[in-house]
Amino acid sequence: TVGIAWRCSPIATSVLVALQLVSAAVTAFGLLGFAQVLTGVLESTDTTGQLLAALPALATVAGCYALAGLATVGADAAQARLAPGVRRLAEDALVTATADTELIDFDDAGFYDALVRARDRGVDALGRAVIQLARLCAASISLLAMGSVVGTLHPLLLLALLASVLPSGWATVRAARMGYSMVLRTMPTRRRMGQLRDLLTEREPAAEVRSYTAQAALLGRYRDVAARLERIEVRLGLRQNWVDTFGRSLSGVGMAVAYGLLVWLVMAGAVAVGGAAAMLVAIQAARSSLAQAAYMMNLLYEQSLYVKDYGAFRREAEARRRAAQARALGPAPVLSRSIEVCGVSFRYPGADVDALRDIDLTIPRGKVLALVGENGSGKSTLAKLLAGLYRPRVGTIRWDGVDLAMTDPDSVRSQIALVPQRSTNWPLTAEQNITIGRPYESEPDRDRLAEVAAESGADSVIAGLSAGGDTLLSKEFRGGAELSTGQWQRLAMARALYRDAPVLICDEPTAPLDARAEALVYDALRRLAGGRTVILITHRLASVRMADQIIVLADGRIVERGRHEELVNAAGHYAELYALQASLSADVASVAGAPPSL
Ligand code: ADP
Repeated sequence: TVGIAWRCSPIATSVLVALQLVSAAVTAFGLLGFAQVLTGVLESTDTTGQLLAALPALATVAGCYALAGLATVGADAAQARLAPGVRRLAEDALVTATADTELIDFDDAGFYDALVRARDRGVDALGRAVIQLARLCAASISLLAMGSVVGTLHPLLLLALLASVLPSGWATVRAARMGYSMVLRTMPTRRRMGQLRDLLTEREPAAEVRSYTAQAALLGRYRDVAARLERIEVRLGLRQNWVDTFGRSLSGVGMAVAYGLLVWLVMAGAVAVGGAAAMLVAIQAARSSLAQAAYMMNLLYEQSLYVKDYGAFRREAEARRRAAQARALGPAPVLSRSIEVCGVSFRYPGADVDALRDIDLTIPRGKVLALVGENGSGKSTLAKLLAGLYRPRVGTIRWDGVDLAMTDPDSVRSQIALVPQRSTNWPLTAEQNITIGRPYESEPDRDRLAEVAAESGADSVIAGLSAGGDTLLSKEFRGGAELSTGQWQRLAMARALYRDAPVLICDEPTAPLDARAEALVYDALRRLAGGRTVILITHRLASVRMADQIIVLADGRIVERGRHEELVNAAGHYAELYALQASLSADVASVAGAPPSL
């Protein structure tokens, strides 16, 4: 926290600490001055004369308190400068570190979990911790100052003061530790409760939860978890209360001893009456500083949990970035001949088996490759490897003979346009949803934009929007619009076409599309063939007839390959899938009374 505060503003951080020191020092000085004035006045018979004589000293005391007040105001201003800055810096560092990570890191459950915790809790915790740290620092300095005032009056009194504040200080720290370990232990329970609460309160699952009438079942589970958490919290609260009571009782005894000692010292003439009055003020001030320090310590314990998470995530992200940088890779060649996949195997982090095994294939430039297979056979994984989003565990992917492992991944991705299975609904305007395909462009290419909108069917989506291409596609803002899944997919297709990349990868691009839009997309893909390399994943086998090469995957392996006719004649896996689909289509057609067609 201190590191980030320093980076945010070394001046504000130094001013904050310096002013707190000044504030505590002048308060202590003022208190000692007050003790002297009081002693003088009380010990003299000519009270009026003594009062007049003490006026300059009283003015100094008043000046001290005014200065202490000013220093506190200055310290608060420095704190107001620091807290938002620390939050901004912390979030900026987190977002930058995340933007630099690879897709595979998001599949690593531990890393992703750390990212979510750092993002959702860590950043705010740092902002709060900086304020709490400043207040803890102020309270501790003030405690020290009051201790030194008491010590100046009589060393024995310092011991008495310690006896009166230390036990309750210990109790507070102990209670805070208990709270901290409880938060650590109940983290999974809290997360579970959060998931159930989100299912019941968020927009996305609202339709499905209601259509399955699952509210009561979810509510029941939510209440079970919430009640368990409540029981743990109540138990903790009671135990903390015991510790606190014990500490306070000991402190009470310490206070009684301190007051008794003070009376004895005054009677013995070891401490002046004015000093005793100052001692009383110092004890009260020390106790309130201690209460403040203890409270801040409590809050800091809680924040430290999330600040630690934040730090751990940053270190891990940095280590991964360094490891990637250490490879010091050159740019990939501009694809002119072929993509070759040689003996590639791939396994997701934390998985027991490979998602892809021993994949060998060659995709000449300008040809259409279709990936076919049942759900979970590895098609999307292979598409992501080809898109340079994952690196193979074993084997190589080569572009014009150059191993992509030896090249900068961004230089590969800049030559690829991807329509993923679940495309992103970018919360931008409709037009920007397409032009983000070329993020480096300062002004969109209007002609090409119109062309791709027509080719993908996005033109009719845009025409239906209140502000056309300038309509914001996010329901969360006033005037924002929401699209249907199929309409979003048309935009995704337009975005990929707009990118004008030599390699186009489409992962089931037409699944949510209506018949007209689907026909448009396949028309566009047919037109692209010859110029661009197209890698197409689809379950509509009729639409892969045009492919130059069809790869059939099963359990992560290539089980068949060839052109449509060859595979149908081979009477293997593909032929079986094709026949199944044809019979399904015939059934549907006969129900509808139309001749079967595929
Ligand atoms: P397909 O596209 O053919 O339906 P995928 O390539 O998506 O299949 O998945 C292949 C296998 O990899 C499946 O067994 C799936 O469970 C697993 N898998 C897919 N994505 C992930 C992931 N992000 N993390 C772990 N395993 C995954």
